[in-house]
Amino acid sequence: MPNDLFNTPEHEMFRDTVRRFVEEELAPRAREFDEMGRIDKSLFKQMGDLGLLGLRYDPKWGGAGLDYSYTTVLFEEMARADNAGVLMGVSVHTDMATPSLHEFGSDALKAEYLVPAIAGEMVSAVAVTEPDAGSDVAGIKTRAVRDGDDWVINGSKMYITNAATADWLCLLVVNDPDAGYGGFSQVIVPTDTPGFRCDLLDKIGNWGSDTGQLFFEDVRVPLANTIGEVGRGFQQQMMQFQDERLVACIGVIAGLRLLWEETKKYCEERVLFGKPLSKMQVTQFKFAEMLTQITAAQELIYACVRERIAGEDATQKITMAKILCGRLARTVSDECVQLHGGYGYMKESVAGRAFVDMRLISIGGGADETMIHYLAKMLGF
Ligand SMILES: Cc1cc2nc3c(=O)[nH]c(=O)nc-3n(C[C@H](O)[C@H](O)[C@H](O)COP(=O)(O)OP(=O)(O)OC[C@H]3O[C@@H](n4cnc5c(N)ncnc54)[C@H](O)[C@@H]3O)c2cc1C
Repeated sequence: MPNDLFNTPEHEMFRDTVRRFVEEELAPRAREFDEMGRIDKSLFKQMGDLGLLGLRYDPKWGGAGLDYSYTTVLFEEMARADNAGVLMGVSVHTDMATPSLHEFGSDALKAEYLVPAIAGEMVSAVAVTEPDAGSDVAGIKTRAVRDGDDWVINGSKMYITNAATADWLCLLVVNDPDAGYGGFSQVIVPTDTPGFRCDLLDKIGNWGSDTGQLFFEDVRVPLANTIGEVGRGFQQQMMQFQDERLVACIGVIAGLRLLWEETKKYCEERVLFGKPLSKMQVTQFKFAEMLTQITAAQELIYACVRERIAGEDATQKITMAKILCGRLARTVSDECVQLHGGYGYMKESVAGRAFVDMRLISIGGGADETMIHYLAKMLGF
């Protein structure tokens, strides 16, 4: 890809390594993970052994200490596995559940949970959403009450990725209901703690990783499992969401580009009324429009990546990218199903799967409307 973000020999070598891993190890198991409804833990270990699970993290904790361009390459290549659920489960682990721990966690907590996560020996999940509060994060009710040197946690979380696979959760709790935005904390909860239970949910797409509802009944964890300061959980989670959204956008746009290519190939081969579908001008116009939009969104994502590498606050652009990717995921995947005709409606077709898998980006990690509301506030309204 000709782009100044990725033009070093190191990037090329890294892309080759990931591509080989995806083609040789991941893609052949893509349908197996769909059938299992979750990622086999051995995949995390393989990725850990290749050094792919802590690209941005400090080498002190087993990370590679690389800038965000490598994370971009990783998820662009992961999109080639043709399994959006696996991409989601892995990205939750690398960029949605672990950033706060890396940024704000104590050394002891990092040694116990981040090091094995980067090594692929432990899998993580991030648990924010609840049955009665998703978009309104400050409306969560899962409560942590201090008892001596422990937190005692009661409540429930909903739609949690890696729910049954995870060894530990980055859990957002309310520790002081009277303290407003200063009353939340992020706490690490090992999933083998007594009182924790998980029920799996049945999704329409993203079958390759599991999603579940979590229950906490008098779950007791040490106060020392608090990530960063008690009472700073809301702010830390808002920062963690920036990584979540950017990585989700990288994966979706890479997936849309591949979908565009696959659909073009299909239209070149599919003959209608005596000529390939791709020879009809209306089809060509659709492809031209779709690629224009995909390229524009990709450039916006690269602008976010550049800001992140420069250490700037990329929140505004990431929010815009999330809105744009949500829209494109819906319109482009819909158009690609249409171009495939009846085959596009089959579960085995790339377009059919993308149609349901990609629908999630407009909802997960902040629905489109939440993002627009957030952006309008940033713009001073
Ligand atoms: C497959 C999947 C995986 C997920 N993984 C995780 C995970 O790992 N961890 C986690 O914590 N959560 C996860 N989620 C939850 C996801 O982040 C929430 O579903 C999302 O934030 C929306 O919350 P909600 O479902 O409660 O919808 P609600 O908050 O009830 O919102 C419903 C709808 O209201 C609209 N809306 C939202 N805000 C506004 C507004 N300001 N103005 C007007 N309309 C608005 C939107 O259209 C939205 O879709 C996952 C969800 C799914 C489906």
